[in-house]
Amino acid sequence: MKTVAVLLASAALAFTAPTAAAPVGHVDTVDPSLPTQLPRTAIPHHYAITVTPHAERLSFDGNAVIDLNVIKPTKELVLNAAELKLASASLRPAKGGAQIAAKISLDPDAQTATLAFPRTLTPGAYHLAIAYSGVIHTQANGLFALDYKNKEGKDARALFTQFEAADARRFFPGWDEPDYKATFDLTARVPANTMAVGNMPAASSKSLPGGLKEVRFQTTPTMSSYLLFFGDGDFDRITKPSAGREVGVVMSRGNGPKGQLALDAEAQILPYYNEYFGTPFPLPKLDNVAGPGQSQFFSAMENWGAIFTFERSLLVDPAFTSEADRQRIFGTEAHEMAHQWFGDLVTMGWWGDIWLNEGFASWMATKATEHFHPDWGADIDHVAAREGAMGQDSFRSTHPVVQDVRTVEQANQAFDAITYSKGESVLSMLEGFAGPDVWQRGIQSYIAKHAYQNTKTADLWNAIEGAGATGLATVARDFTDQPGIPLIEVGPAQCVGGRTMATLTQSQFSNDQRAEVTAHPLSWHVPVRASAGGEPAQVVTQGATTQLAVPGCGPLLINAGQTGYYRTLYQPAQAQALQGAFLRLGAVDQFGILNDQLALSNAGYQPWAIGLNLLSEVPDNANPKLVEAALGHWAGLYEVLDSNPAAQAAIAARVSRTYGPRLQQLGFVPRDGEPALDALLRSNLIRTLGAMKDPSVLAEAHRLFTAWLSDSNAIPGSLKTTWLGVIARNADEATWNAIHAKAQAATGFAERNSLYQLLGASNNDTLARRALDLALTEEPGKTTRSGIISAVARQHPRMAVDFVLTHLAEVNQLIDISGRSQFMERLSGGSSDVSLVPLLQSYANANLAPSDRKPIEQAIDRIQFEAGKLPRERTEVGAWLQAHPV
Ligand SMILES: [Zn+2]
Repeated sequence: MKTVAVLLASAALAFTAPTAAAPVGHVDTVDPSLPTQLPRTAIPHHYAITVTPHAERLSFDGNAVIDLNVIKPTKELVLNAAELKLASASLRPAKGGAQIAAKISLDPDAQTATLAFPRTLTPGAYHLAIAYSGVIHTQANGLFALDYKNKEGKDARALFTQFEAADARRFFPGWDEPDYKATFDLTARVPANTMAVGNMPAASSKSLPGGLKEVRFQTTPTMSSYLLFFGDGDFDRITKPSAGREVGVVMSRGNGPKGQLALDAEAQILPYYNEYFGTPFPLPKLDNVAGPGQSQFFSAMENWGAIFTFERSLLVDPAFTSEADRQRIFGTEAHEMAHQWFGDLVTMGWWGDIWLNEGFASWMATKATEHFHPDWGADIDHVAAREGAMGQDSFRSTHPVVQDVRTVEQANQAFDAITYSKGESVLSMLEGFAGPDVWQRGIQSYIAKHAYQNTKTADLWNAIEGAGATGLATVARDFTDQPGIPLIEVGPAQCVGGRTMATLTQSQFSNDQRAEVTAHPLSWHVPVRASAGGEPAQVVTQGATTQLAVPGCGPLLINAGQTGYYRTLYQPAQAQALQGAFLRLGAVDQFGILNDQLALSNAGYQPWAIGLNLLSEVPDNANPKLVEAALGHWAGLYEVLDSNPAAQAAIAARVSRTYGPRLQQLGFVPRDGEPALDALLRSNLIRTLGAMKDPSVLAEAHRLFTAWLSDSNAIPGSLKTTWLGVIARNADEATWNAIHAKAQAATGFAERNSLYQLLGASNNDTLARRALDLALTEEPGKTTRSGIISAVARQHPRMAVDFVLTHLAEVNQLIDISGRSQFMERLSGGSSDVSLVPLLQSYANANLAPSDRKPIEQAIDRIQFEAGKLPRERTEVGAWLQAHPV
């Protein structure tokens, strides 16, 4: 994000990058077919906003002058405003004439201000001037403050903004919907010794009386209101030139070295994206601003030219950052930078198409990771995204990728696994369908054609078909306009003349409405890629059955390469043949089949034995990502079998026997220069074996913990949260108190935050309650408190839900406004405790409008499914374990 005003004063001379290129189009291009919550009587095209924050008293004053066109005769203007006090509003015709004062009325529920004028306004250009004031929040919505300890250990406060989806209206009154694009001039009056950051470099900075200065930022290009950014604090900024622009990372003073990894990533990714998208990054600079805090709902925001990222996902703290964190820093950077094109330069016209932003940025981030870090297993992450999406998409409460969004809450709730991960998976599949070159040409023409404008999903398909991907839109629409997951059932295979022939029958996969969707499945054109030992072949399914012919007569593998978004149900003999061939397959296919087959067993489409037979095939020397997947599945089954100690012991013994040697080989201590995935795997092995009470892991955990109590460096930084996690999970009172004391003494945000959240991780009921009580106090810090509640919910969902219901008003203050309707779902959604269902229902009835209850429906669907399948799961898995002793 930006630049600093002060710094700029010196940097500005040397700064030769172009100013906001371009189309500062003042065309009234709002598409009347898009949904809106505002009457389409006026269209803004430029905002000049001046703010004066009063950080110490958490309020600000503002002034907005909006250049707009009235497009139909009207006596009133309706615009968005939330939690703002409007002192005055007046309108002046642009061509000259008297100022017209407005009568102001606010509607807090609609988040609007209505400005009524004494006479009818004739269409034409006007300047609307509004003086107002607002509040500075302590969670990430609108203008918000994050408190932290500075370099000297003193209390400090920094300011940031967070506007997506609909919180720009908490910072300035305006037309706060994505299709009302405009240019912005932002001016801030801030303390003279702070650094102010905006989307653009500062144009000027001048001293004001009273220890203040006024920083005016350059005019932004035409953009949506949710992309505006402002930050101010005691910051440092590190920079690098890249592709003719300046990239920077901004962080609290003294933490510059912690931003180097992110800065290098930015500099690396920018030219790669310039080339991929075919349109160079249009702003003169791109900053990423670190916030010392967290949200339960997001880690970063793609404000144009001024990305905001919570510290954990941006800065490296050698005393605390794990290998997973380091990879997340790159992945987050790659995601937010992809948005600079997909989202910022070209923006969805309405929130129903938000997947165009999020699905695309997720897909592009994985692609960039694969490009720059081929050893990180990002090809497998694409498949993991598919599984993440299917986890939501296999329930009746799912929704299509392109959604029906009517309310602000629905827009907030749209940021889910379907939007991000199904979006990413469908894009992977369609890239495979089009071929990477045609696909990229299509993307480039889409960006070029719609730059500085708004789009719908169909615009993307048109561009890619236009580049040569004939028939793509038909496939694409089936997957973006319909919810759910195709199920491909494979008929008996025959070898005919060196080719494998089989009939594919298409229906629909579901966890909780199998009978209904089997009787009346949706229908898709599914590109099915298959192999049977020779070259893979592809068919696109048409209707209920499709004939498949694949070169070779080896074991038949459907969804070869795993880019298809569907599940595959084999004949038992085929599943057995695949199991026999499992070790010869590539890691991506192994990962995909393993998850697919276990999901089919889990949902009751086939016996558990088929999934477990495959799971038990994963050797200790498999690809680390595959071992991690196996560990995750065994850990899940271990918890499911909590009422059966013998079965739990059998799983623990199997996992120790199979994967303990891999941990021994990796060692407990990270090695210089080791493969990144080995570092990830070590952490995973320690966590899983620790949860299953492996004696050697527990002994090492206790040894390290004791040493750490007197020496904070006794545990390697990259494994600190892993080892402490093992201890915290099994903590007794003395251990809990010791972690608490270390948390109180910690100063850096990442360390302090992690330690407080570990207090919520205990298995022990009493200690979990104590952690919840602590979350009600100011001690842990404003954005850490909700993290403790989330941590407790992982092992004690009912306790966490009861707690939140008892303290709802207080807990709501700990949650981003945009996330409040989803917090309860996050706390309870993984549970199988049906006693939660009536609690969730009455919570929703009392607190959420009927239109905004989707997350609660999803949580209830999952709880009921988890509870319903338990008896069969316990019986079948228990029997399998008995029949397969280690
Ligand atoms: Zn995103």
